[in-house]
Amino acid sequence: MSVFKVGKATITRIEETYQAIYPVKELFPACTDDILKHHGSWLPPHYDATSGKIKLSVHSWLLQIDGRKILIDCCCGNHKPRPQRPWWNMLNEPYLDRLAAAGARPDEIDLVMCTHLHHDHLGWNTMQRDGKWVPTFPNARYVFSKLDFDHFKKVDEDPKTTPAEFGTFKECVVPVVDAGKADLVTGPHKLNEFIDIEPAGGHSPGHFVFKVDAGGGIKAMLTGDVFHHLLQVYYPDWNFPKNSDAEQAKRSRRKVFDELASTGAMVFPGHVGAPFAGYIEKDGSNFRPRF
Ligand SMILES: [Zn+2]
Repeated sequence: MSVFKVGKATITRIEETYQAIYPVKELFPACTDDILKHHGSWLPPHYDATSGKIKLSVHSWLLQIDGRKILIDCCCGNHKPRPQRPWWNMLNEPYLDRLAAAGARPDEIDLVMCTHLHHDHLGWNTMQRDGKWVPTFPNARYVFSKLDFDHFKKVDEDPKTTPAEFGTFKECVVPVVDAGKADLVTGPHKLNEFIDIEPAGGHSPGHFVFKVDAGGGIKAMLTGDVFHHLLQVYYPDWNFPKNSDAEQAKRSRRKVFDELASTGAMVFPGHVGAPFAGYIEKDGSNFRPRF
């Protein structure tokens, strides 16, 4: 289990899966053998040289601060057919056991926050009970981006594009809203005394980053899918293929990297491999990770 102390906050990675998934040169067409060789010293936890595929982690972050238990992003979930994503098809992972081992039973979670409404960030929002999708975390408020909600609602209601996000919008977002447990937020928004929500759109229209003030000037930032891989720190214009607005995604990434470098905040991305969290530093006009 990866546990990070950041000021008065404890931030724990709750793993769902960690596997080599996408061929690096398909994902990032600008990537060359020379680039892979140049970065060879740190790449192994992030790249499987035998298959040529990048390794992606799917995890949540459990943020514990001032007695509160806050879950950020909710992975893919179990028992969901994903013929389009065979590596996440019909998962059967002991995710809730891992969450309990990290210090939180479902009924202890106060707040669930999704950086954006893609299927791999929503799965554990809900569970099936008596044939109905109900919130997994019965005592939690759920924070969703209103811009993303409006966007994926439209996608879901259009007969040409439904079901949005392989059905997870219907299964993992709508039941939470219908149960009156969702707060649809437009950023920037100060959520409470230690969390600020800021827009970082492009990967999805309403993608958020969550900034945590952990006391004494110590900061953390949970960045979801602003970047997926540490190669993108060196090459911020390399986009992950799935974006609502590719140019906006690049601008958001540079803006977030600039802020991480200037504030010294520890960064907790949504999919980066071991050790999963770290820092981003300025390197001339570019950036480099310190993970
Ligand atoms: Zn994702």
